[in-house]
Amino acid sequence: MRKVIVLFVIALSIFQFATAQSLERPKLFVGIVVDQMREDFLFRFYDQYSDDGFKRLMNEGFVCRNVNYNYVPTITAVGHASIYSGTTPKYHGIIGNSWYNRQTKQVEYCVEDPSEKIVGNDTPGTTMGISTRHLISTTLADELKICTNQKSKVISISLKDRAAALSSGHMPDGVFWLDLITGNFVSSTFFMEELPDWVVKFNQQKNAFKYLDQTWNLLFPEDQYPYSIADDNNYEVIMGGKTRPTFPYNLKEMAPLNNPYFEVLNRSPFGNSLLCDLAIDALQNTELAKDDCTDLLEISFSSTDAVGHTYGPLSKETNDTYLRLDRELARFFNALDQYVGKGNYTLFLTSDHGLGEVPKYLIDHKIPAGDLKIDALKARASAFLNKEIGIGLWIETCRNEQFYLNRALIKEKKLKLDDVQNLLANFIRDQEGVFQVFTATQLNEYEFTQSVANKVQNGFYYQRCGDVKFILNPGWYTDLTTSATHSAPFCYDTQVPLLFYGAGVPKGESFNYHNITDIAPTVSMMLNIKVPSACTGVPISEMLNKY
Ligand code: ZN
Ligand code: ZN
Repeated sequence: MRKVIVLFVIALSIFQFATAQSLERPKLFVGIVVDQMREDFLFRFYDQYSDDGFKRLMNEGFVCRNVNYNYVPTITAVGHASIYSGTTPKYHGIIGNSWYNRQTKQVEYCVEDPSEKIVGNDTPGTTMGISTRHLISTTLADELKICTNQKSKVISISLKDRAAALSSGHMPDGVFWLDLITGNFVSSTFFMEELPDWVVKFNQQKNAFKYLDQTWNLLFPEDQYPYSIADDNNYEVIMGGKTRPTFPYNLKEMAPLNNPYFEVLNRSPFGNSLLCDLAIDALQNTELAKDDCTDLLEISFSSTDAVGHTYGPLSKETNDTYLRLDRELARFFNALDQYVGKGNYTLFLTSDHGLGEVPKYLIDHKIPAGDLKIDALKARASAFLNKEIGIGLWIETCRNEQFYLNRALIKEKKLKLDDVQNLLANFIRDQEGVFQVFTATQLNEYEFTQSVANKVQNGFYYQRCGDVKFILNPGWYTDLTTSATHSAPFCYDTQVPLLFYGAGVPKGESFNYHNITDIAPTVSMMLNIKVPSACTGVPISEMLNKY
């Protein structure tokens, strides 16, 4: 009898040990990226937001007020890769949306892959596939899949292929983006052989066409947009079918006059609505959050970026797009409560970069700004090199504010690469609008630990980068074709919102400085999984300590 009691006590203590040791993990983790959202947009439009969208995260979640990108260029592909890999281009290899390939002498797009084909799209001529082969490190999603022996499900969606693909990493269960010619969500053979039923059925509903039937008007009366400039102004792009950049926007009328057909949907708040429909569909009709093994849903809202580029950060169009996204977020959060359950999910919301003010607006208001024309700069630089070291095609190209020198010619003429780089760098340094210049040799041999130099180095992956990299003054961009843009190492392009909400997240606020690369290790700690392979970020401990 005594033996039985002892065994019972041992069994009981093992049971207690086992239950005490079992880790609480949410059924679903959701990563939300709002493309081009600047941190101040949380506050500038606060009074116009609903109670259940951004405000729900701000008032019930944990708000990191001082999160910055720690590299250049601050653009979409690089941003998504860095958020989810917890590191910078120097370590993940995605140095731009596209870059110059020295071997092929062609520009290549960050996720293009001729060995793959698009899945779910029969439009001829648009069949080159997408893959994440250029992303040389793992992501949160990769680590989650490895850690759970592939039991975790990962789905990533966006209007942009690069945003969806680079968020997900290398072995997601589903990656889908919008084909702007057909209005269908598609994928690539790198990820799957055919579209799953739920996406086929979603496409059959033709939601993209339904949104195109809408006319975009302001959500509220015009006088309720006090922090935007007049609707009719000279700082905006005028789209096909319009004579002035003003409301209302009749999307159906405009669609045939803009290329591709669904571009007008992309450049309206309804692009985000369409993506929200797909996100809610994923909650209802996929395996996500159906067992206790944490799944990951990654959503990147792209229309904020397209609208911001077209109309600029001070426009009523941008203001209204955020108000409408706020209502879509509320709809999505309610769907999470309904289909996953409060307490069963955790999420973060951030952005892939910020947005500069319209340079023309800055100039009109006496703030220095400018637009540097790359072809003219390249011509001046070539003439200078011809004069200094003899006639030759010394410069192969200039891309992402980087000059790629003709290394074969330099070798043939028995010149030192380092010397030619320095010669060109000194010339570029003297040009109007140029802030700082670095050579590839400097970036490769020295360690820059602070300020802009550090951001340049973090963005520098030797095999894909050029020989001379330049940074422009605050307010300056190159070859502007849009109203406003982003890519700089300065605060307007680097500072982004970061909000955590849901299971395990304390209510709170932090003004500590954080790099964007801190998100991935923070989530890794929350989910008790390995950090991504080349992670350089550190966990946001002031949030986790209360966790
Ligand atoms: Zn972007
Ligand atoms: Zn953009």
